[in-house]
Amino acid sequence: MNANALARALSSALSLPITAKSDARTGTTEFRLEGMSRPHGFSIVVTQLLSRVKAELQLDRLAADLLRVIGEAAPERWLQVAEIARAYESLGAQFQILVNGSSVDALTSKELTGNVRTFACTGSLMRTSVDESNSDVFMVSEALFSFIICLLPLDADQETPPELGNVDFTFASEGQKYSVLATKYERSRANRAAAIAVHGNSCVVCQFSFDESYGDLARGYVEVHHLVPVSSMGGARPVDPITELVPLCANCHRMAHRRWPPYTPQELSEARMHSASTQKHFQQCVGIVSEPDIRISPTES
Ligand SMILES: [Zn+2]
Ligand SMILES: [Zn+2]
Repeated sequence: MNANALARALSSALSLPITAKSDARTGTTEFRLEGMSRPHGFSIVVTQLLSRVKAELQLDRLAADLLRVIGEAAPERWLQVAEIARAYESLGAQFQILVNGSSVDALTSKELTGNVRTFACTGSLMRTSVDESNSDVFMVSEALFSFIICLLPLDADQETPPELGNVDFTFASEGQKYSVLATKYERSRANRAAAIAVHGNSCVVCQFSFDESYGDLARGYVEVHHLVPVSSMGGARPVDPITELVPLCANCHRMAHRRWPPYTPQELSEARMHSASTQKHFQQCVGIVSEPDIRISPTES
């Protein structure tokens, strides 16, 4: 995958316009949010080494206002950054997130609020084989974008229908506004990306794959559903993309929300089981095998 294809994949995964520029001499690729003015914003710079991929958040020369906006992020957004880092670490990546020189895990919410002087993020991932699709580059750069996006007024975690609209935030003291036309998802774009990275993008209920049905048109697309309804979470708290978010196709997602609280994926699967035509399909998908195929290893108790 070349730099432009990677930028397109990141743009659709994060629902934000992202551009890329490769430098063959240094082996680096620089990703940026489209339209973000040069001395006031940030880049994600990825270097492909022989044995690993490393990525770094690089703040522009005049990033004081960006840091001020980051400093205004609510404490739970920082906890969310740590949750997202854990999700990508479960896939083998490693990250270092430093605020004012200290690891984000070590800081209290008071130390984090309104007092961000430096912010540094790096990530790395071992390369197990030569990966033509650059999925390793995609993964670490997606993670680093997710961390910073989580802290900017570009992200929220609320149950509203997806709509296309302008997402605005101001990060320069001269009142420069950064505005992008992006899909406002029902889910946080950072959490979505982490959930899809961990769970894949086939519906957990019916196994529908947008990729298989629509190919490039839908690459990486699926809807992401909260197992714990957002409005019953009792105040803002971070979401664990591994245990609390599941990919659902549009049909199953609609069905889930036909009741309050939503039907669980298990309930939806069971409802589908009652339909004879879907029973066989579901059994294939969730690995329920008929009697003669069950093998119990003698070492298992
Ligand atoms: Zn489905
Ligand atoms: Zn939902």
